[in-house]
Amino acid sequence: MQDDIDHVLIDRHAISRRLDELAQAIAVDLKAETKDGPGEITLVPILTGGIIFLADLIRRLPIPMQIRVMSVTSYPGTATSSRGASIEAELTKLPDDLSNNHVVVIDDILDSGNTLRLVKEVIQKRNPISLRTCVLLRKKIPSAMEFDVDYFAFDIPDEFVVGYGLDYNDYYRNLPDIVTLKKHVYAQT
Ligand code: 5GP
Ligand code: MG
Repeated sequence: MQDDIDHVLIDRHAISRRLDELAQAIAVDLKAETKDGPGEITLVPILTGGIIFLADLIRRLPIPMQIRVMSVTSYPGTATSSRGASIEAELTKLPDDLSNNHVVVIDDILDSGNTLRLVKEVIQKRNPISLRTCVLLRKKIPSAMEFDVDYFAFDIPDEFVVGYGLDYNDYYRNLPDIVTLKKHVYAQT
């Protein structure tokens, strides 16, 4: 696996430091939302790429919360560009009514914006009190920069990255750093 890495874009220490800041900002906002008014906090991680980010983020958020997963497919198998997003209903655990909830959607990366646009639309129909989006990475391309995301940890160049939850053909999610892969990996598949 290590032999497949071309270069490290963001290492584990930089991720950890940035997550401290990001969690602090999210905690301040959510505490303000729930201080005087009603409502519970629900985090909605997008499977599968968002799970490592979610796990590290929530342990930095000292506030009561529930987690409801959603599954969205956009890069099937060995594709390295978006094929349009669709919800996998059988894996999604979203209540029909979110009218007592402040929702924060958590995803790994913002690229075309198709995933978060679709997820926001689906959640909005369930009438949350508030709805925010949070991604680990945002690609420096117009589609991603124009999307109104509430929180992001890092801007990255327009490269295909893996690690820290992000996959290629479902592998490499367990790499602790965010990396690019050597050309030979794509040539094999
Ligand atoms: P969007 O719907 O914004 O185009 O992309 C969101 C989804 O596409 C992400 O959740 C992720 O699964 C996938 N994706 C986009 N860019 C990359 C990338 O550089 N690497 C990997 N591994 N997945 C990506
Ligand atoms: Mg994904």
